[in-house]
Amino acid sequence: MPLTLHIDTPRWREHVRDRLADPSGPDDGTAAVRVVPVTKGNGYGFGNGLLAAEAAAADVPTLAVGTSDEVETVRRAFDGDVLVLAPLRPWDAATADDRVVRTVSRVEDLRRLAAAGGRPRVVIELLTSMRRHGVALADLPEALTACEPLRVEGFALHLPLAGQHGAEARSLAEQAFAAAGEHGPDVPRRLWVSHLSAAEAADLARRTAADVNLRVGTALWLGDRAALTARATVIDVHDVRRGDTFGYRQRRARRDGTVAVVAGGTAHGVALEAPTPATGVRQRAVALAKGGLESAGRALSPFRVAGRQRWFAEPPHMQCSMIWLPGGVEVPAVGDEVDVDVRFTITHVDRIAWDG
Ligand SMILES: *Cc1c(COP(=O)(O)O)cnc(C)c1O
Repeated sequence: MPLTLHIDTPRWREHVRDRLADPSGPDDGTAAVRVVPVTKGNGYGFGNGLLAAEAAAADVPTLAVGTSDEVETVRRAFDGDVLVLAPLRPWDAATADDRVVRTVSRVEDLRRLAAAGGRPRVVIELLTSMRRHGVALADLPEALTACEPLRVEGFALHLPLAGQHGAEARSLAEQAFAAAGEHGPDVPRRLWVSHLSAAEAADLARRTAADVNLRVGTALWLGDRAALTARATVIDVHDVRRGDTFGYRQRRARRDGTVAVVAGGTAHGVALEAPTPATGVRQRAVALAKGGLESAGRALSPFRVAGRQRWFAEPPHMQCSMIWLPGGVEVPAVGDEVDVDVRFTITHVDRIAWDG
């Protein structure tokens, strides 16, 4: 009784291939722009293992993951370099592994890593106006000194999404490379950035004469949404007469219709968030999913039957949902699939179907 992610295989692979090949460096060949695919969390709906295999098939040299705990999963399918995006902290395992590149954002973490030996590879994250993680420019000389026993693979910049930050990126990069020239161990002229367009990345590469590694997840794997469809298998259908009761809450039918039980519930991350246009509905769906059963009026479900989004008969359960089909609607058969709108980054599907 699966919730299935159907992939239009040729279309999806073509999009991924185009995105990976998309950025080019400045025309004069002084620096290169390269896409580093990112997978983390639920693997953007596909799973980290699957995306690691795709990255391996695409022959990219580096794959980025969110946390050090995700390295092992992608390693089974991908044997290139793995960049960990979350900055290293004392509780992270830091065993020497030549094909793992760690992001480090504090001087004390660089020192600890250096003390562990083995010349681990690191990217130094610089503090940007986002003020999330990063070594402040003032602390960079100290950080670079601590890096003597390490292999530095360049500087990372995590910029805010709002506003224009090209000038900020250039200025930080210039100052960081200058500091590396003075204090540093050998630091390649290489930047690791996120959320820049290919054109912005090329501009950054040209102005700083640095190679730019563009870390991309959503736009790569989910950039062509028409190549992806989530479908829920119909598990059961029950005709209901006006006045009949149904569900945990024994709600009473106000007219004749059908209760359809479909795959996809809170355990899959389905209906935690309903489709985008209806914010009010979405908030209600969230409240429902959190157990506000009494308070529930009715909520529009993310399931589509006979061309229309249908109401929940009652709030979703762990592995399935009950939806209400009014009389007159063509009732699907057990085993049919119905479309379901999902947010891929929070959904765990049961199966992946490679179509086409
Ligand atoms: C997750 C992450 C990315 C990828 O983000 P998308 O929006 O999915 O492209 C890039 N950089 C960093 C530092 C990240 O943590």
